Order: sequence, then C-alpha cells, then structure tokens
Amino acid sequence: MPLPATLPNSSIIRKQFSILWRLTGNACVGDHAEATTGITEFQAQDKDSKEDHAQPEKLPMPSILLDQLNPLKWLAPLTCVSCTRRAEQRLCTRCRQGLTHWQRAQGLVARVPLRVWAWGAYTGEVERALYQLKYDRAYEWGGIFGEIIAAWWQDLPERQSEYTPWHVVPIPLSQERLQTRGYNQAEEISNTFARWVRYPHLPHWLERVRATQAQFSLNPQERAANIQGAFRARPVVRGRDILLVDDIYTTGATLREAARMLTEAGARQVAALVVARPLGQT
Ligand SMILES: [Zn+2]
Repeated sequence: MPLPATLPNSSIIRKQFSILWRLTGNACVGDHAEATTGITEFQAQDKDSKEDHAQPEKLPMPSILLDQLNPLKWLAPLTCVSCTRRAEQRLCTRCRQGLTHWQRAQGLVARVPLRVWAWGAYTGEVERALYQLKYDRAYEWGGIFGEIIAAWWQDLPERQSEYTPWHVVPIPLSQERLQTRGYNQAEEISNTFARWVRYPHLPHWLERVRATQAQFSLNPQERAANIQGAFRARPVVRGRDILLVDDIYTTGATLREAARMLTEAGARQVAALVVARPLGQT
C-alpha cells in the first residue's frame, strides 16, 4: 500500500507512519464491518499463516484505539475515494449505492474446470473503480471491494449448505509490476475480504515466477499461452481448500493456470472469487 507523497523522508518516521497507516486503514474497514454485518473481531490467522509469513503490522487492536491513533483523523477530514466529498467512510453512502447498482447478482459464473463466483458486472461505476484501483494508484478501492464482496459472499445460497475451510490466496503480480504499481490490487481486495469473513489469508502460497505480457491485449488462445508457467505454488497448499481472489474474470486463463499449479502441488480443491466480469460473457 503506498504512503502519501508528502511524508517526511526520514526512514524511521516513514516506517512508523507506514505501520500506523496500515493499522488505521484496518480500523476504517473494521468500523464499517461492525456497523453493517456485526463482525467485530479480526480474523485469526491460522498456524501455517503465522509460520509462513509473520505480519506484525496486522496485530489485532481494539478499533476504538486505532481510531484515536489515526493521524489522518487529525490531519485531514476523510473524503470519499470516488466523489472526493467529505464522508464518514472511505466510500460515501451515495457512491456505495451507485456501485452496488452494478452488482447484477452474478453469482456462480463458471463451474468447469474451476468454480468461479463473480460479485458484479464489469461496467459503469464498477469498471471505473477497478480501473482506478489498477492504474491510478487508488488502492483504497481494494479494501472497499473486499468489504462489499465479503458481505455478499456471506449471504450466498451455495454457502448455506456447505462449510469449506477456505484459505484465501490472491493472484500474485510479478515483482516488476508490483514495484511499478506499489501494491497488488488482488491482495488489497483479498486481505480485507479474508478478514471480514474470517478466513486465513495466505498471499504467499502462490508466487509469480515469470513476468507476462498484459492479458487485455491478447485473444483467449494467446492469453492461455502467455500465462502458462507463470505461477508456482508452495508445498504447504497440499490438502488445503484454496479460494483464489482476483479483480476481474475475463477468459479465466489466469485463474485456471493458478488453479492448475495449486492442484499439481496437492491442493484438495480450488475455487475462485472475483469482483467483476464483463456483462454478457458466457
Ligand atoms: Zn462519494
């Protein structure tokens, strides 16, 4: 997650601010979660998660304390990420309603070879927001979509009849793209999603071992060839149920290749959850 450009250059101050920045970001999400779904606790990371990647900046803290620690609260009023008007949350009520207009109840959009759930349609406000998340450094959209798909996921009819101990894994970016963008948009979404639904979040169980050409410029056959061999799964995925998270589902080439590598490494089952897919796609 990038820091504000106006921060002092001192590395110590920067580091401290970085920790506060992440903690207070969590507090904003947590406050909203409590207000709308009754989720008040931070999701407990599982044993593998702790062993695999200690994340000290995500220690659970009471949200009221976090709120008081929030330097942004004192430095500047919170503004809506979409319309930039002053707001109580990162997305004002009006813009949130504008976004959910495009939900279009997509649900389970693919079954074979991989089950894929999509929350909404890749058009209108959703398309604009996902574009900003990916290309305009508007990483806040990741947390906002994470909240939105979590609330939706919890009410999905398919989930009422089965309990699967999902481990949430975002589609990773190459190191080059991660450095250019400053964050992985899929991980911004999955991190918030996992905390809301209390699934373990394992962003390093799948790695990008090869940089690839941007998929949007390629046809379906080229996409599949382009992404082949781009991922590597950690041995720890053996026997686990993996829920991949990404921002957009188009041809599914990326998700299928990630699922293939996870299955080869012994994952028990792999499914995927995305924010949006283009309208009219079959
Ligand atoms: Zn707004």
